[in-house]
Amino acid sequence: MTDLLRQQLIDTARAMNASGLNQGTSGNLSLRFEQGMLITPSGMKYDTLVTGDIVMMDLDGSYEGERKPSSEWRFHAAIYAGRDAANAVLHAHPVNCATLACMGKGIPAFHYMVAIAGGMDIRCAPYATFGSDGLSDNVLSALQDRKACLMANHGLTCLEADLPKVLALATEVEHLAAIYCRILAIGEPVILSDAEMAAVIEKFSTYGAQES
Ligand SMILES: [Zn+2]
Repeated sequence: MTDLLRQQLIDTARAMNASGLNQGTSGNLSLRFEQGMLITPSGMKYDTLVTGDIVMMDLDGSYEGERKPSSEWRFHAAIYAGRDAANAVLHAHPVNCATLACMGKGIPAFHYMVAIAGGMDIRCAPYATFGSDGLSDNVLSALQDRKACLMANHGLTCLEADLPKVLALATEVEHLAAIYCRILAIGEPVILSDAEMAAVIEKFSTYGAQES
């Protein structure tokens, strides 16, 4: 019964690499399932994955099957435990997000689309070793009231209601990061006010909702 969901996870992971958001086996992707989650396995190329390679695990870290879950399962599990609205989590090392993250920079409100992540800015979580509880704590804090955060000296993590939405959000955040990198190369941006960003966040809450 989970085969369809497992295949959707594989298809989205492949799309993540094909789009340039991620490369090789460095990213990982998960989907909430019952009391736990389905997550990409550790260190396997997405092109070779079959549905049986996707790991079903509980949020406490226990899992079934031969494949080991992604080494970053801890923050995926922490996000599902802490954020009811999260049904899909994407982690990748996109070039522009990673560039800012390696400078310890988040993304300020230089463009109204920054509000797509849910707040006035997109934070950068402090550095901690990959796969550690410390990294999980830092990511969860940086995601407070947000759906995306950068991770210092590392990359990007996004949460959303489903796989297509989390891929779209990650793509948008990487695009914003690319613009912000260009801005930093030539100067300082004009930052939108909190009041304007609040208005945009309010507008986004109804954007795309068709009247019935
Ligand atoms: Zn990573």
